[in-house]
Amino acid sequence: GVFLTLLLSALLSTITTKTLSRRNTLLFMLGKALDKNELIPFIQPIVEAQSGNTVGGEVLMRWKHPQRGHISPEQFIPLAEQNGLITRITQSGLCHVADALNSADIIPARDMTLFFNVSAADFMNHDIADWCREFRRKTPLSGWQIGLEITEREPVEDTQLAQALCEQLDALGVQISIDDFGTGNSNYRYLMQFRPRYIKIDKVFTAGIETDASREAIVRNIIAIAQDMRCMTIAEGVETASQKVKLAAMGVTHFQGYYFSKPVEMAAFFRNTPNPLP
Ligand code: C2E
Ligand code: CA
Ligand code: CA
Ligand code: CA
Repeated sequence: GVFLTLLLSALLSTITTKTLSRRNTLLFMLGKALDKNELIPFIQPIVEAQSGNTVGGEVLMRWKHPQRGHISPEQFIPLAEQNGLITRITQSGLCHVADALNSADIIPARDMTLFFNVSAADFMNHDIADWCREFRRKTPLSGWQIGLEITEREPVEDTQLAQALCEQLDALGVQISIDDFGTGNSNYRYLMQFRPRYIKIDKVFTAGIETDASREAIVRNIIAIAQDMRCMTIAEGVETASQKVKLAAMGVTHFQGYYFSKPVEMAAFFRNTPNPLP
């Protein structure tokens, strides 16, 4: 008995140490990657249901590691969120995209929005308003608007500070979108707190829309509350024409997903995005 307990605890401690050191290594590498500009923003188009036009895109980070290849944000974003590195990632994303927009070969657009993912830590931090102001200052003629996607992964407290920040962002014309709606636990509260312009329907719901009655019911409900609150809806993870047709019939206003395009490099996105100005 004693032997077994000893063996077990020894085993457990090596496992924990291994996991810990792997996390620390990744964290260390991530800090370095930021310094070396290895975190590259990709953009996935967002399409308006009614017109079929691309009306914006979501910025999604890719880590181009010289030896390990592409590392998925699913691997490093949660880690960065726990360690405060996320604010550097957010700022570097905004900065890279603003620089790309500023480059000479991008034609001004109108009513186009670029959505950035922000985490709770970004939102508690008043710098986010400064970064958005800086983005606008850098891209005065581009015509691109800023959207911020807020997740429920780590909740943003409804404090006076957070409210003041919302007002600043609103005054800057920044559009708020609630990400992963319905998959967290604070979704109705978020609708009151942020008064979003968009609600994103998570790909978990999109994927089951044709086969699972409960997911279909949830999507119908999300659309209903969005319409009541004068919000638009972006269905993500649209992979097939029949999903698109079904979602459009249900009243979804915007689509995003592999059916339209995977996330692509910034240059390709801006090259392929039809310019709505004459
Ligand atoms: P998300 O915000 O829910 O982003 C949507 C994810 O779904 C992206 O994964 C996208 O590539 C993927 N996707 C898009 N269309 C389809 C489709 O048709 N089918 C399927 N199966 N997947 C699709 P990605 O790029 O791997 O990003 C994963 C998550 O990492 C994002 O989920 C977001 O929460 C987070 N993330 C990415 N970049 C950033 C960032 O710069 N800052 C923060 N805070 N989070 C980020
Ligand atoms: Ca998102
Ligand atoms: Ca999402
Ligand atoms: Ca998601």
